[in-house]
Order: sequence, then C-alpha cells, then structure tokens
Amino acid sequence: MAIITNVHKEQTFNPIASISCKLFGHKYRITKRYESNLKEFECAHCKKQFTLDGYGHYTPLTPKLKKVNEVYESFYTKKLSIR
Ligand SMILES: [Zn+2]
Repeated sequence: MAIITNVHKEQTFNPIASISCKLFGHKYRITKRYESNLKEFECAHCKKQFTLDGYGHYTPLTPKLKKVNEVYESFYTKKLSIR
C-alpha cells in the first residue's frame, strides 16, 4: 500500500523512543477531542499519532482514518443541529 509507506517516510524516527514504546507501550496523550466523542492521540515518546477504532482499541492514525473521523464528526454535528 503506497499510502502507508509515504506516511512512514514523513515521520522523524527516534529509535530509542520506539524501543521504549515496544517495551513499555506508548504514552498516549489526547491531541484532539471531537464533539462525537472520537479522540486522537499522540505518543509522548515516539510522536506517533493514534485514534480509537470501532472497538475502542488504539490504532495508528493514518490520513485515511483522520478523514473518516472528520466525515463522522461533520455527520454527527449536522445531525445534532437538525434536532
Ligand atoms: Zn510511542
């Protein structure tokens, strides 16, 4: 998948941080909170970005997923304003 490899090239890679993430797990902090309760996270160590999938699991935030979040958010806020 061409899209995924492009994302990895853009990120600055810190090998020490990524080892600590492998051993101890990522240190998530919220970077964005949507009205629709979706959240986006960033790891304080390796600076990778994550969001939650439909099951509430952390999943890497790809440009595609970010778009999905934004579409969902606009759908959600529109639905609220109609009521
Ligand atoms: Zn990390």
